[in-house]
Amino acid sequence: MSSSAETNDAPRDVVVLAGGVGAARFLRGVVRAVDPSEVTVIVNTGDDRVFYGAHVSPDLDIVTYTLADRIDPQRGFGLKGDRFELVDRLASLGHDGWFRLGDADYANCVHRTLRLAEGIGLDVITDELRRDMDLGLRILPMSNDPCPTFIRLSDGRRLHFEEYLVREGAPTNVEATDLSAAMKAAPAPNVLEVIESAKTILVSPSNPIVSIGPILAVPGIREALDASRAPIVGVSPIIGGAPVKGPAETLLRAEGVEVSALGVAGFYRDWIDGFVFDEQDEKLMPAIEGLGLQAVALDTLMLSAEISENVARAALSVAGRIK
Ligand code: GDP
Ligand code: CA
Repeated sequence: MSSSAETNDAPRDVVVLAGGVGAARFLRGVVRAVDPSEVTVIVNTGDDRVFYGAHVSPDLDIVTYTLADRIDPQRGFGLKGDRFELVDRLASLGHDGWFRLGDADYANCVHRTLRLAEGIGLDVITDELRRDMDLGLRILPMSNDPCPTFIRLSDGRRLHFEEYLVREGAPTNVEATDLSAAMKAAPAPNVLEVIESAKTILVSPSNPIVSIGPILAVPGIREALDASRAPIVGVSPIIGGAPVKGPAETLLRAEGVEVSALGVAGFYRDWIDGFVFDEQDEKLMPAIEGLGLQAVALDTLMLSAEISENVARAALSVAGRIK
């Protein structure tokens, strides 16, 4: 029986909080360790923005394309083998060309835009794209409301996260991350219910500030996590004192969080029960356990699906140790 035929509100055992690339790498392992029909992913939509008239949801699409084995491996986002006639043509007509959206990727985003204009929720549209790619797990946006994340720089500018990251190349003069839109949003349908009925909750090794932060900022989600009886296990996106990729170092520092597995564990400690981090940071084990967390250290640089599966199994086994 194909799980994609299941309804969107059937209860699932494993809930995973997710951003983009780090989450997608981890989820590749989760769906090898657990039947995909048992998994619900709650994805950050703070990076969403309209480009060239199309509603782009970077993290939802990275997760969906990666699990469908259709991600462009060179760029880490977009569809492999995609063409760029649309953005090139728009650029030659004088439009900004900094957001390189491929043609087929653009079509998916136009689908999203047209359906939103019909009054259909982002959760339903996300499920349409998920089914189109034959994925068995359920993918939920954190919210159906617009929740743009802004980055405030020391020069007074306030940039949408994608402008900060892609157009400006993630400068380091960050003063703060602004999650005020997420703080006024409502959770998407089913988000609170799946957290409530989860048996295990996993936190992807995603950027704590701009990927996991917006999810927690949506009113009701943090309360649902606190109320849940499921063990909650985080995975460190920081290995050996640095992120694998992306602006986590700058953004953590701006919030006063130490750029280490211990820093992330401390940042999450109020709402997680367990933590998985890299064996390179094994020396941090006593300090992480000292935060009251069950923890395990192993190779978490997910360069293959096998390593991703090991990380997922480690997170599930830490969860199994928590009462
Ligand atoms: P984004 O929205 O595409 O930036 O994706 P995420 O927020 O999900 O992921 C970004 C984070 O993933 C970065 O902080 C990276 O350090 C982390 N990351 C990427 N690949 C890996 C990996 O193989 N292992 C671990 N532990 N973290 C990773
Ligand atoms: Ca993202």
